[in-house]
Amino acid sequence: MKTFAKMLVASTVLAAGPASADHSWGGYHWASDGTVELTVNQAITSEWRTPLNLGIADWEKSRKLSFTQQDVTGVNLKRCSPIPGEILVCNDAYGQRGWLGIATIWISGGHIVQGTTQLNDTYFSMTRYNTPAWRRLVACQEIAHDFGLDHQDENFSNYNLGTCMDYTSAPEGGVYNDFDYGPSNVSTNRHDYDQIDAIYNHADSTSATATDFGAREVGKPAAQRINSESPGLSPSEWGRAIDHDAHGRPDTFEKVLAPGQKRITHVFWTPKD
Ligand SMILES: [Zn+2]
Ligand SMILES: [Zn+2]
Repeated sequence: MKTFAKMLVASTVLAAGPASADHSWGGYHWASDGTVELTVNQAITSEWRTPLNLGIADWEKSRKLSFTQQDVTGVNLKRCSPIPGEILVCNDAYGQRGWLGIATIWISGGHIVQGTTQLNDTYFSMTRYNTPAWRRLVACQEIAHDFGLDHQDENFSNYNLGTCMDYTSAPEGGVYNDFDYGPSNVSTNRHDYDQIDAIYNHADSTSATATDFGAREVGKPAAQRINSESPGLSPSEWGRAIDHDAHGRPDTFEKVLAPGQKRITHVFWTPKD
């Protein structure tokens, strides 16, 4: 939110990132007039409040993005079923499934129409992951997938790029397991904002915007609404693998739901070490 973002400007490091490369996650984006206003619904516990707030404050520094955050109750946290036209963030103990978080977007008519982020407390209650840096890395990255941003690097074991869109075994940076990871990966870098500018570089029809989609969807009979089934918690439910990380693990999945409708799930696996 705006006031919060202002407070944080001084602590931001806008490091130089790779100049080219398309990291736009298939070019997926919300329909917009060139700037995107997204509602982030929060079904989260207190441990996630600061990491999520910091991540959203970082992303709001993009001139393209603005967010409204609101708490929601009564959400089935296991399912974390999407809200039409909006983003929903859930945390729960999803079990020892090997992933720290998943982010899912639903595409209809060529645009993102709803998105969810699920943060796996089974790992964030463990000593290794129960740290501000790990929470910030994963929260910042997953929420970014919900508006279409992809990773800058998918190797956990190399030098940090200084952005949460870079996988790492050491989110705080510095020396870990005898390797110097360099800068911390809890925030964002210049390249992230360049990429957002590249994704949101055009005006779509105003009737396709998130708010409008949400309003229309709610007014439809259930049978005519987008297939909003929850992505589930295991790869077998996510569809076909369409991308792999540097360690050979499938980290992006696609499931076709209906003609012109699909669901993309991005998984943040635990590091290899
Ligand atoms: Zn568009
Ligand atoms: Zn990711």
